[in-house]
Amino acid sequence: MTPSDDVMDIVVRGACLAERPGRWDIGVRAGRIADIAHRIGARAATELDAAGRLAAPTYVNGHVHLDKCNLGDVMRPNRTNSFQECLEITWEHKRGYTVEDLLERAGRAIEEGILNGTTVFRVFADVDTIGGLRPLEGMLALRAKWRDVVHIQVVDFPQEAIIRDRGTFELMDEGMRMGADVVGGLPWHEHVDEDARRHIDLCFDLAKKYDKDVHMLVDDTDNPNSRSLEYLAVKTLREDFQGRVSASHCGALAAYDEVHAQKVMALVKEAGISITSNPHISLVAQGRHDREPIRRGITRVKQLWRMGVNVFSGQDDVNDPYYPFGRNDQQEVASIMCHSCHMTYPDEIRAVFEFVTGNAARALRLEDYGLEVGCRADFNVLAAPTIQHVLRLQQPPRWVVRDGRVLATNELKRTFDDAGRAR
Ligand SMILES: [Zn+2]
Repeated sequence: MTPSDDVMDIVVRGACLAERPGRWDIGVRAGRIADIAHRIGARAATELDAAGRLAAPTYVNGHVHLDKCNLGDVMRPNRTNSFQECLEITWEHKRGYTVEDLLERAGRAIEEGILNGTTVFRVFADVDTIGGLRPLEGMLALRAKWRDVVHIQVVDFPQEAIIRDRGTFELMDEGMRMGADVVGGLPWHEHVDEDARRHIDLCFDLAKKYDKDVHMLVDDTDNPNSRSLEYLAVKTLREDFQGRVSASHCGALAAYDEVHAQKVMALVKEAGISITSNPHISLVAQGRHDREPIRRGITRVKQLWRMGVNVFSGQDDVNDPYYPFGRNDQQEVASIMCHSCHMTYPDEIRAVFEFVTGNAARALRLEDYGLEVGCRADFNVLAAPTIQHVLRLQQPPRWVVRDGRVLATNELKRTFDDAGRAR
């Protein structure tokens, strides 16, 4: 009996696929993609008529702070219009977080993310002497609560740095013992280069001790003297961690002169470091001290991509003291990436779509990710037939399928009441 003779759990009819011409049926059985063919004969418990819409693997959000998210609903206004006050507002709340409060705010963001087609989240949890381990405790509870619905990785993240916030390293160690998935880092936030290097060394000590991957926020500044990415790359090579390290932001790389930038990018490539750029955050966080021309503060996304570095992109912030917007929507993130990095030609648009799907999955080392027979049945039936039009229209997926079941449905009803007269 061929697969197409069996009964399927779900069959999607008439979908477009990114690199394959024509219309395709997708058969799902036991949580896996069982068949992809122009016509699948099998019956299914659930039939979805894609009607020519694009099917693609679900979005992967590899960088998001769900301990802080939705503080925008309860926080006081930022009176000085300053980044420093963003930090202070966060501290005020962080001291009083409860696990229940964290689960409630983060749960709303997860739900929003699912409706927008994301089923994988790498969640950063602040670990420092202000909030202690409470944010991490909350994010581990979030991972447990949503375990059967989405895939969550929790990052043990020193938001106030390590050397300048004495006691943080011991808290991070405890956080890894509690079950965090990834060792975080924020080396550029230390006061001097020597401490930034020590910071990176300490994070690798933890990564080796617990055999976990590393994801650091690096050189999140326009300051061309911020040089932690190059040391991170060298350390990755020395410790044989190629393919296990991600670096977010890397804004300073865009401020280096070309000669130094080329050296650092070659090291990043050799070390197999994935670079995360969250362009909407860089656009509003950087360039604040510039007079015209004002820099965008975004790392060298296009150069890195062209040289074969694994680049990906995440939501970062949702309605928090640092960023008043954000819908936990990787389509919006991709659209802003296309605009802010001049990636609007066909191969560039396809590449940016990979930043929020395949490349992010590679960085997070997800197994069996993709829209291929045998892969996990985690895919979206999107709102339009091509990637270009999905990003142009910015409408949510028609269906979100995860683990072989329909996890979310979006129905958009729009009526032009006066259509007759206009024509
Ligand atoms: Zn971040």
